[in-house]
Amino acid sequence: MSDGPTYGFETLQIHAGARPDPATGARQTPIYQTTAYVFRDAEHAAALFNLQEVGYIYSRLTNPTVAVLQERLATLEGGVGAVCCSSGHAAQIMALFPLMGPGRNVVVSTRLYGGTVTQMSQTIRRFGWSAKFVDFDDLDALKAAIDDDTRAVFCESIANPGGYVTDLSAVAAVADAAGLPLIVDNTSATPFLCRPIEHGATLVVHSTTKYLTGNGTVTGGCIIDSGRFDWSASDKFPSLSAPEPAYHGLKFHETFGNLAFTFHGIAVGLRDLGMTMNPQAAHYTLMGIETLSLRMERHVQNAEKIAAWLEADDRIEAVTYAGLPSSPYHARAKQVCPKGAGALFTVALKGGYDACVRMVDNLELFSHVANLGDARSLIIHSASTTHRQLTPEQQVAAGAAPNVVRLSIGIEDADDLIRDLDQALAKATGTIRAA
Ligand SMILES: *Cc1c(COP(=O)(O)O)cnc(C)c1O
Repeated sequence: MSDGPTYGFETLQIHAGARPDPATGARQTPIYQTTAYVFRDAEHAAALFNLQEVGYIYSRLTNPTVAVLQERLATLEGGVGAVCCSSGHAAQIMALFPLMGPGRNVVVSTRLYGGTVTQMSQTIRRFGWSAKFVDFDDLDALKAAIDDDTRAVFCESIANPGGYVTDLSAVAAVADAAGLPLIVDNTSATPFLCRPIEHGATLVVHSTTKYLTGNGTVTGGCIIDSGRFDWSASDKFPSLSAPEPAYHGLKFHETFGNLAFTFHGIAVGLRDLGMTMNPQAAHYTLMGIETLSLRMERHVQNAEKIAAWLEADDRIEAVTYAGLPSSPYHARAKQVCPKGAGALFTVALKGGYDACVRMVDNLELFSHVANLGDARSLIIHSASTTHRQLTPEQQVAAGAAPNVVRLSIGIEDADDLIRDLDQALAKATGTIRAA
C-alpha cells in the first residue's frame, strides 16, 4: 500500500504496513518463522551490520512479520516508526532505556496499571533509575517534581484501572517546557479512541496483549515514536545524540534524524536487551487489529450501557467511568478520546471487600482474570490481585481500594452481561435490585 494520510482508520487498520508477499503473492502477511536471513554477499552483510543499509539479519532485531505490525502501529498512532517487544512491560523498559541512566529519574502519574507501579517504584531501581509519583491533575506538582536528573514524563491516556483520563495536552506542555519527552501508555484507549501524539506525546507505548490483539492469546508490546523530539537540543540524551561506541562512534540522531529513537530501539535495545516480539505473536496481533475499530465501538457501547445500569443500582456505591456524565473526567474524555472513554471502569460495592469477593465468585459470563481488553468480559478484584503489592495509600491513589472491582467490558450482548451482574450482585449483597 502506498503511503497516504488520505486513508481512514478503518482502511489503515487492515492495510497499513502490509503488501502481498513478494515471494509468493500471499495476500495475508505470512508468519516468517525464521531466525536468520541469508546475506546477498559479504558486502551486503557488512552494510547491514554497519547500519548503512536496512534489512534483515537476525530475528532478535527484525523480522518481516513483526515489521508489518510495527509499520501498522506507527501508522495508526500517527508516528514515524515503532519497535515491537515481547510484552507491554518490556515496551516500557525499552522506551526508558535510551533516555535513562544511573541517577536519572522519570516523573510518573499515580494513576497507572498496578504492574507498572511496581515496575517503576521497585524494579527500575536495580538499574539505578527511579520514579517520582505525582498526581498529574496537579500541574504545579508535576512541574515541581521535574529536576535536573529527570529524563521523561510518563502517564496513561485512559488510566487503568479505570475512570481517569489524563489531560494529555496540559501534561505535554509541561514536559515540553522542561525539554523532556512525554511517554504515554495508550493501552486502554487504543489509537482508535485516542491518538496521544496529536496531544503532544513524544512516545506511545502499548501492551498489545490487550485490545490491539483483542482475544487474549498472546503477550506483546510496542513503542511508537512521534519523530518530533529534538534529542540533540540538550546534552540530556547522549544515547541518541552522542557517539555510540558499539557502532564506531555513530550518532543516532545525527544519522537517522526523526527515526533515531526507532533505530536505537532495534540496533541497541533489541540487540542487547533481547525483549523481542516473536512472529507468531505479531501474526495474532495483526489479525486482531484488522477489527479494532469495530470492537472498540462495541466495547464502548456496552460499557456505557452497563456503567449507567450499575450507577442506578442501590447495591453500588460508585461507578468511575469517564463515559458517564456524572464523572469529573467526562468533559476531559470528550477532548482526549472523543469516540468513547474505553471499556474499563471500576465499581465500588456497598458491601466492601467481602461483597467484592462474593461477586467475583458468582459471576458466570464475566471471567475472574488478571487481564483486560479481551473480547470477553472480565472482572478482577484489584486489591487482592494486581494491586496487592501496593500500599493501601497507593491502592486508593490507583483507584483500587478494597471495596472496588474492575470491569473490562467485552463485546458480548450487553443485556446478557447485565443479567449476569444482577444475579452475582444479588448473591454478593443478599439484596435484589430495586425496581
Ligand atoms: C497490561 C498492561 C501493561 C503491561 O503489559 P503486558 O503485556 O502485560 O506486559 C501495561 N500497561 C497497561 C495499561 C496494561 O493494561
